Amino acid sequence: MKIYDIAIIGAGPAGIAAAVEAYALGITNIILIEKSNNHSTTIRNFYKEGKRVDKEWMGQKLESNGTITFLDGTKESTLDFFDDLLSNHKIESAFNEEAEKVVKNGDIFDIATTASNYHAKSVILSIGKMGKPNKPTCIMSPEAKKRVHYNLDACSENESVLVVGGGNSAAEYAVDLAEKNDSALSYRRPNFTRLNAINLLNLERLSSHGKIRMLLGTNITAIEAIEAKVKVSFEEIEHEVFDRVVFAIGGSTPVDFLKKCGVELKDGEPILSDEFETDTKAMFISGDIAFKNGGSIVVALDMSYKIVQKIKLDVLS
Ligand SMILES: Cc1cc2nc3c(=O)[nH]c(=O)nc-3n(C[C@H](O)[C@H](O)[C@H](O)COP(=O)(O)OP(=O)(O)OC[C@H]3O[C@@H](n4cnc5c(N)ncnc54)[C@H](O)[C@@H]3O)c2cc1C
Repeated sequence: MKIYDIAIIGAGPAGIAAAVEAYALGITNIILIEKSNNHSTTIRNFYKEGKRVDKEWMGQKLESNGTITFLDGTKESTLDFFDDLLSNHKIESAFNEEAEKVVKNGDIFDIATTASNYHAKSVILSIGKMGKPNKPTCIMSPEAKKRVHYNLDACSENESVLVVGGGNSAAEYAVDLAEKNDSALSYRRPNFTRLNAINLLNLERLSSHGKIRMLLGTNITAIEAIEAKVKVSFEEIEHEVFDRVVFAIGGSTPVDFLKKCGVELKDGEPILSDEFETDTKAMFISGDIAFKNGGSIVVALDMSYKIVQKIKLDVLS
């Protein structure tokens, strides 16, 4: 089993800086995991073409103490800047892989992504604030939307809940619900290909005991409200009525992701030490996701520099 010194989740300014500053400190056994097919999704997708990029963004005056010198520029020059940083260092990267969960077993973190599993002595969560759950494309009335969710927060005991999806999040939601709810799992494919062994085993066990109804090979076409419930129509089978539908079809809000990783939050903000470490030793948070109202590029660079210094001293020495 390969064990990385650092697993970095999210290749925005914070994640790239963590990788580059780690290299500068001689730590090269690292993996950078990014859900998109390229780095810096926030800058790429949310900045207008030609946008001026200010080093002192929203009055946040700061110099990064690390080796990276960031200057004012434009959207394009900023993306080039981070391109160059990445290509000047041979950083092992996993693009198109969304991290779904991080769990610590003993001294080692297990990082489950949509495509693989990684193991590391330390983890830096640098996922930004812009993540959103993927939304379904089926027809849905506005009234029905009130009973359609993207996590289990609104579900209570004894409700009938349809979970939709074929990944580990969907499986875990269905398993969580099975004890106290009438739960069903709809997946568009006839079998699961992306589940870890534990989730697959749990689903098989619960479905064989009649605790989860498996609706495999089903595609939802419409969701309508009927009184305080929702009627779900499928392409392949008869419609069914549920109290709620929970979609887990990829993507998650950053806060949901942090909760899944066991990070304690207060007022929506992660609780961190002065050195940006969570309650879980060797799990750190860098960049926008550390703050309620986001940070800035230089703030992210500086945080990541401080975090890798701390990892070198505390975790790897
Ligand atoms: C419109 C706009 C204008 C801005 N202008 C400026 C400016 O002029 N100057 C300035 O300093 N700052 C500016 N900012 C703020 C700046 O963009 C952020 O502070 C900075 O991008 C934060 O970097 P980050 O690495 O923390 O997060 P992000 O840049 O959001 O990067 C996070 C990365 O993590 C990836 N990711 C998310 N979830 C997962 C997952 N589960 N698994 C794997 N990968 C994942 C994302 O795809 C993304 O690539 C602006 C922000 C916006 C929205």
